[in-house]
Amino acid sequence: MDMDESRRCTATAKRSGERCGRAAIVGGTVCSVHGGKAPQVRQAAEVRAAKLAVHAEAERMVARAGSPWLAIDAQVDPVRWARLLSP
Ligand SMILES: [Zn+2]
Repeated sequence: MDMDESRRCTATAKRSGERCGRAAIVGGTVCSVHGGKAPQVRQAAEVRAAKLAVHAEAERMVARAGSPWLAIDAQVDPVRWARLLSP
């Protein structure tokens, strides 16, 4: 199996001791079977995913504008942006 380890569910089976092979939910560390569907987990994952999306967009903007990274990194508050983006 060829999966990005960072995207893999971190849960481990109690009985076999083997790590879960499913992909984690977007922005989360566990798959939907291992708690990824719980409301609080989903909410946290959504916020994290939104922050990542905002940061990626900011990165694109910087790349287009050609301005130095540090400048925009200081300006962008991911939490505030995530709140603005959420419905
Ligand atoms: Zn899992």
